[in-house]
Amino acid sequence: MNIVLLGAPGAGKGTQAEKLVDKYALCHISTGDILRQAVKDQTPLGIEAKGYMDSGNLVPDELIIGLMKERMQQPDTEKGVMLDGFPRTTAQAVALDAMLSDLGRPLNAALLVDVPFEVIIGRLTSRRQCRACGKIGSVADAACPNCGGEMYQRDDDNEETVRNRLDVYANQTAPLIDYYKGQDKLVTVDGNRTPDVVFEDVVAKLGIA
Ligand code: ADP
Ligand code: ZN
Repeated sequence: MNIVLLGAPGAGKGTQAEKLVDKYALCHISTGDILRQAVKDQTPLGIEAKGYMDSGNLVPDELIIGLMKERMQQPDTEKGVMLDGFPRTTAQAVALDAMLSDLGRPLNAALLVDVPFEVIIGRLTSRRQCRACGKIGSVADAACPNCGGEMYQRDDDNEETVRNRLDVYANQTAPLIDYYKGQDKLVTVDGNRTPDVVFEDVVAKLGIA
C-alpha cells in the first residue's frame, strides 16, 4: 500500500502517519524530518534548505524531487510507503506519479486530514517535539512522553512563520486536493477530533479506498 498524506501544517499528519506505519508496516518518509536532519548535520542540502524552512516557505521543487527520487529507490520502500509532507506542489505530485509508475507501484490513496485554520494556529504555536526521538507533544509536556528526552519548539512554529506556512499551504498545496480528487484517490477525514478517533476513521476509510 502506498499512501500520500495531505493536510495543513499541524493537521496531525505526523501523528496519523506514525499510527498507520505501525498498523500496516509501511515505510514512513517525512520530507520535513529528512530536511531537519540535513539542517542539523549541516549537509549541502541542509544549508540550502534552512532559510526557506525558517521563513515558512517551500524548499525548491528540484531539490525535493531529486531527494525523493533517491529515497524511493531504497529497498525499504518496497513494502509500501507513507509519504508525509510530499508532494506539496502540483509539480511534485506529477513527479511522484512518474516515480511510482517507473517503479511499477500504484498510489492507493491520498488521505486528507482536514482541520479548520483557526484550530491549526493554536495547535502549532503550542506544539513541541522531542529532540531525541522526534515524538510530537505540546507545551504541556515537561519531558518526552516516549523517551524522557528534551522537548523543544521548532524554529518554524512561531506565530508569524505559522501564518506564512498556512498561506503557502493554501496557495501551493491545497490544489493537490483537486488533483487527487481528479484521480479518484482522495479520502478525507475530519482531523478536528482526538488522534485515536481520527485514526479509527482513517482505517475504516482506507479499508474501502
Ligand atoms: P509542516 O507540515 O508542519 O509545515 P514539515 O515538517 O512537513 O512541516 O516541513 C517543514 C518545512 O520543510 C516546510 O515548511 C518546508 O520549508 C520544508 N519542506 C518539507 N517538505 C517539503 C516539500 N515536499 N517541498 C518543499 N518544501 C518542503
Ligand atoms: Zn523522545
